[in-house]
Amino acid sequence: MSFESLGLSAPILRALSEQGYDTPTPIQQQAIPLVLEGHDLLAGAQTGTGKTAAFGLPLIQHLATSPQEVTRGGPRKPRALILTPTRELATQVFDSLRGYSKYLRVPSTTIYGGVGMGPQIDALRRGVDLVIACPGRLIDHLERRSVDLSGIEVLILDEADRMLDMGFLPSIKRILAKLPKQNRQTLLFSATFAEPIKALAREFMHDPREVQV
Ligand code: AMP
Repeated sequence: MSFESLGLSAPILRALSEQGYDTPTPIQQQAIPLVLEGHDLLAGAQTGTGKTAAFGLPLIQHLATSPQEVTRGGPRKPRALILTPTRELATQVFDSLRGYSKYLRVPSTTIYGGVGMGPQIDALRRGVDLVIACPGRLIDHLERRSVDLSGIEVLILDEADRMLDMGFLPSIKRILAKLPKQNRQTLLFSATFAEPIKALAREFMHDPREVQV
């Protein structure tokens, strides 16, 4: 099994080989083709399994190859949103995706608390395709109308169980209410699947495929 056989494009394959990735991990083998086909996905995977590339590689391929809906006049709206429980994970995901998209153009920014709003507002105003955010600070931006989530095509919930353990369920629901309902792809990654996660999936996902490693 190779990354090439999973349907990834040449610029991504080149970045992966430069980083010394030879073989996709089990979660990558199972998840990448399903995500590229456009399915919603419920994935059971712990940290260390290669889950970031499992959602990140098909995501950047989608962002780099499918055209953005033309919005005349207004600023570029984010097309993908990754929600993470902590600032550390947001930064880690951002750094990994920047490496994978080295030969593509995927303007991205992180959004998290504990730092000034100014630089985040500036980045959003300049325009990004991808936002990697912690729920609390993203709500602050929604309240100030400094972020517009009406153009989100792909939503990824990373470490969903940790986000719920940290009390982010109400914030996640407020964020979900701001996203388009039609034609949205939703991916949920979690180490565990207690009832509240399943309920979230039933409410907000469309006919999800399930993978488990
Ligand atoms: P993650 O589970 O996404 O936190 O990834 C764990 C670690 O595995 C990270 O350091 C990745 O860079 C690395 N990694 C992910 N996929 C692969 C792969 N297919 N081959 C080699 N290393 C990988």
